[in-house]
Amino acid sequence: MKEADFWKPLKDKKVQCQLCPRNCVIGEGKVGFCNVRKNKEGKLYSLVYGKFCSIALDPIEKKPLYHFHPGSQVLSLATVGCNLRCSFCQNWEISTAKEIRGQDLTPEQVVSIAKDYSALGIAYTYTEPLIAIETYLEIMKIARKQGLFNVWVSNGYTNPEPAKKAAKYLDAINVDLKGSKKMYNELCAVPDDKPIYEALKIYKQNKVHIETTTLIVPGYNDDEKTLQGIVDWVKQNLGTETPMHFSRFHPDHKLTNVPQTPIETIKKALEIAKKAGIKHVHAGNVPNLL
Ligand code: SF4
Repeated sequence: MKEADFWKPLKDKKVQCQLCPRNCVIGEGKVGFCNVRKNKEGKLYSLVYGKFCSIALDPIEKKPLYHFHPGSQVLSLATVGCNLRCSFCQNWEISTAKEIRGQDLTPEQVVSIAKDYSALGIAYTYTEPLIAIETYLEIMKIARKQGLFNVWVSNGYTNPEPAKKAAKYLDAINVDLKGSKKMYNELCAVPDDKPIYEALKIYKQNKVHIETTTLIVPGYNDDEKTLQGIVDWVKQNLGTETPMHFSRFHPDHKLTNVPQTPIETIKKALEIAKKAGIKHVHAGNVPNLL
């Protein structure tokens, strides 16, 4: 447990976490929406500092990042917790865990494991990296000093100041861009998606390599107008060099009453992006087909 960054004290020993746009007001002894930031006697603490529930070696393409050090291996880290509640989450066992669990490692130990396995970088992934920013920033600083790169796989739901701070040590990021308010509201418990677009602009301004991933869920973001809107936004704000991934949805977790995305829909999304001039367009969850 370590004192958190990005919070302020309120009256009656309450605190407000200012890490993500939920800006949770947390009473004494309670945790925020993400389950990993706790008010202890009027101070906010990170419960996942140095506690990693997943640690694995992955090809960077698995993130997916296809245009940043292709062919390299990355040490992938996760802590429990998340600031979204996506009903289709494939990692829900760790993202919604109420118990803090994981292996204790210091930042130096993490970097040393990465080097022992000849990883070229460290990926902060599987669950939302923002919610463990205190522990991750320390690792990122050491990793960079020792010649390793840092990549996040993020939902982008952050306040601006933490995004700016992370961007200093981030080399690449893949942000989920779901692209429809209906999907954010009804499937992810995000009341307002604007901060995600603002975060992407911050990463761009700070010269972080960006790729976006859009999971296409039938009935939520699969219509032509929505897909065109996502592509147009990326083109105008991030540029046509920004790789875009469109992934096929498979029923999972709580979202089992929605069918798998038809292949034709993925093809349609790829066509829209290519027609708009996006240079690198990829399909996900459809191996060998597109
Ligand atoms: S990071 Fe967690 S505690 Fe902080 S505002 Fe977001 S959900 Fe709430």
